[in-house]
Amino acid sequence: MKDRIGLFGGTFDPIHNGHIRAAEEVQRAFGLGRVLFVPSHLPPHKQGGPGASPADRLRMVELACEGHPGFVASPIEVEAGGRSYSFLTLARIRELYSEAEVFFILGVDAFLEIGTWRERERVLAECRFIVTGRPGFELEAATSVLGGRLRTDILRIADRGPVDEDLLARARVFLLPIGALDVSSTDVRERLRKGLSLAGLVPSSVEAYIREHQLYLDRRGP
Ligand code: ATP
Repeated sequence: MKDRIGLFGGTFDPIHNGHIRAAEEVQRAFGLGRVLFVPSHLPPHKQGGPGASPADRLRMVELACEGHPGFVASPIEVEAGGRSYSFLTLARIRELYSEAEVFFILGVDAFLEIGTWRERERVLAECRFIVTGRPGFELEAATSVLGGRLRTDILRIADRGPVDEDLLARARVFLLPIGALDVSSTDVRERLRKGLSLAGLVPSSVEAYIREHQLYLDRRGP
């Protein structure tokens, strides 16, 4: 069996326990040897720019990955600079891990935006997708954004895995219900601006980094 790798992209501004929970459940269900967390340099879809620098966001991802076997912080988008596009990142990951099968991981809210991605047909053709649930979004909504043949290539995983080779062969886009946490980076930034606790929302090492570097205390962005 080929080694399986998950590619989990995002702004991670900052990374929070909702990201970690989703990655853990996907890793377990799909038997992923590695989950690469890839913070974007400049995300194409977000307005107003991120609150923390790419270097700080990458460092927080590194801290959050500590103690989770198989979790890897990938600097490829931050090092590439400029706008970050999934099709370029995927090509690079496939080059770096040419022996592995790559799965693109994202929450259903992000998957619903796939119509705006550059080269989405290519990305959809080149790797399988794992779409996780997220509070406030219907997992099934993911089926409505794909047209044509791809619509029949979606499979909802009934329980939380493990997903064997037979199941894998049956689809290209897998919808995985998870015990998702109701947290977003926007919540975390808002709580920091208001001086509220982050207990249970981000890993303690990430909270310590935020406080030490006094991140997210200004009034920029939502
Ligand atoms: P923001 O509030 O700034 O929009 P965010 O919390 O949505 O940020 P991102 O870095 O934009 O975080 O998300 C990266 C990926 O993680 C996306 O695929 C998103 O769907 C997923 N994700 C974020 N939060 C959760 C969560 N609580 N549960 C499951 N998936 C999540």
